[in-house]
Amino acid sequence: MPSQLFVANWKMQKTFLESIEYCNANINVLTKLGETPDAEIVICPTFPALHALTALLAQSRIRLGGQTVSAHSSGAYTGQVSAQTLKEVGCSYCIVGHSEQREYNGVTNQDVAHAAKNLCDSGIEPIICIGETLKQFQKNEAIATLEAQLDLVLAAIKNKQQPITIAYEPVWAIGTGIVPEIVYLEKIFQHLATLLSATHAGPWRLIYGGSVSTQTITSFKTIPTLSGFLIGSASLDFQNFEKIVSLRKIGAL
Ligand code: PEP
Repeated sequence: MPSQLFVANWKMQKTFLESIEYCNANINVLTKLGETPDAEIVICPTFPALHALTALLAQSRIRLGGQTVSAHSSGAYTGQVSAQTLKEVGCSYCIVGHSEQREYNGVTNQDVAHAAKNLCDSGIEPIICIGETLKQFQKNEAIATLEAQLDLVLAAIKNKQQPITIAYEPVWAIGTGIVPEIVYLEKIFQHLATLLSATHAGPWRLIYGGSVSTQTITSFKTIPTLSGFLIGSASLDFQNFEKIVSLRKIGAL
């Protein structure tokens, strides 16, 4: 069974101290969780906690990821963090183009393209988020939206051999408790898999994000092209997160 990726996106929900406390309080079980066969666990905490968590989790196979990264590689960009810095503080992954970054911080498809390229050049696997809004879903514009979101980024990294992950996160499913119908997801993932096979030279995988929880995780088991999950709210509580990872074994996942 190919390995499944479980990415915990803590957003700005945990402070620096709370992030450390989460790992300290669960260090033994976290270490064990990191050794789950066929599962790769990634935690994306708030930026300032990355370095400390890298040290805390050094003896485990849990990986760290950034929640965003600058579109620039270095320079006078106050408040931004470069891919190289993320590498130096121990990141193996970084989320780019999350819908909250697109909506609140004006991150564009062009920014996502530059950021993903910088991450690949720094040896960090980009987790590229795409997803349609509720309005686009209702107007049957999901596929066109996803293609438009992928266009520039796939062109920017098309000759890269580094692995990439595409996270399909319908905006209307994030934090709402609503999960799209499985037939809908199967259609979307099939489309994305065909597109990536035709356009991307290096290895890629597809993951899903949006209201993944202990209640919803088993419903995704029939999607053949799915290689993991991006998990927001349900990753904040360790027991929940652990349960989601263990429930993956049920069925075809
Ligand atoms: C997210 O924000 O990436 C996400 C998937 O959140 P949630 O799991 O809370 O829907």
